[in-house]
Amino acid sequence: MKVQTGARIAVAGAGALGSAAALRLARAGFSVTVFDPAPAGDNASGVAAGMLAPVSEALFDPASRDHLDLMRRARDLWPAFAESLGIEIVRAGVRIEGSEAWRGQVGQRLRDLGLPADETIREDWRIEARPALETLRAAAEAAGARFEARAVESFAPGALRLVDGAVEVFDVLLLATGPGARDGRLAPETTALTPIKGQILRTDATAGDAAVVRGEGVYLAPGEMLAVGATMEAGRDDLSPDASATKALRAAAWALRPDLDLDQAEVEVGVRVTTPDGLPLVGWSAAPGVLLAVGARRNGWLLAPLVAEMVAAYLNGDNPGPDAAAMDARRFEEPESQEADRAGE
Ligand SMILES: Cc1cc2nc3c(=O)[nH]c(=O)nc-3n(C[C@H](O)[C@H](O)[C@H](O)COP(=O)(O)OP(=O)(O)OC[C@H]3O[C@@H](n4cnc5c(N)ncnc54)[C@H](O)[C@@H]3O)c2cc1C
Repeated sequence: MKVQTGARIAVAGAGALGSAAALRLARAGFSVTVFDPAPAGDNASGVAAGMLAPVSEALFDPASRDHLDLMRRARDLWPAFAESLGIEIVRAGVRIEGSEAWRGQVGQRLRDLGLPADETIREDWRIEARPALETLRAAAEAAGARFEARAVESFAPGALRLVDGAVEVFDVLLLATGPGARDGRLAPETTALTPIKGQILRTDATAGDAAVVRGEGVYLAPGEMLAVGATMEAGRDDLSPDASATKALRAAAWALRPDLDLDQAEVEVGVRVTTPDGLPLVGWSAAPGVLLAVGARRNGWLLAPLVAEMVAAYLNGDNPGPDAAAMDARRFEEPESQEADRAGE
């Protein structure tokens, strides 16, 4: 479905996916308004460690093991994307640390992926997530997008209803609500999403050089503050810090850095959201006029420029590229409902 240039696009959600898409669409000449009731950065995108790490994710997240090529393509969009925004990419890589047995296992997993068993993964990068989100918003605003602190309630082409009761005229709704709209009311495909609560510790201690360190059950990501992450609590979407869940994380960090002072560390909580295959839903929903960009699991930052490009392609009626089928927004639907839709077209 091609949408006319200048069409009114409502984006629900100002996380990495919604903000990157808003920027891309505003630059392409669409009339873009981003709705999000939360304070800026008060979402998974603001909490994230900012790693752009296809190899580490393929190594350490079983759901991402089969997506290395796709994640590398996403990473390769970052240099041009970051340069156009003045975002710094830290290319110090990811160093594997820990017992000999653990490093041996990781080396074997690297070889299984067809990669050299080096102890530093040079092709994994990092950005500062929260400042990057601010930069994206400022750039989107400069390109003409508006941001409003309001929540989206429902949508039909021509009528966007907000939670405050107002109804506004929009042609398309881009749903980039992270874990926020999973009951299927805005788009039936969102019922395939599962939340994964993530707790991350932040401390002003230094960990050494600029490389991210990966150990068994933990990473140490340097930056404005050292990030020690992160828990993976499947099925949970509450934002309360929970010391029992971070105990293992602290122990794993101390195994690498016995002197690390984590007693005063801040605990930040974000909720990722995943599909059964670990890739997001990107593309047209069965709900008329609704486009999806949700479910980026642990890789919302890594995937943001790719998802933004794909969203623009869907709206312009262009080819959304080699990753469209893998991320198809309707791939978890019962085949009968897709056939019924096609029969009615
Ligand atoms: C601890 C932790 C560490 C992470 N580290 C990394 C990392 O190193 N690298 C990486 O790539 N990814 C990382 N991630 C994952 C990444 O943060 C997510 O994949 C990404 O933030 C998802 O972005 P999003 O825009 O889809 O959603 P979110 O950032 O969750 O934003 C969704 C927004 O939608 C808004 N919203 C919800 N409902 C509505 C509604 N009805 N109307 C309007 N707005 C609504 C919410 O208020 C929210 O602001 C990490 C996540 C966590 C929790």
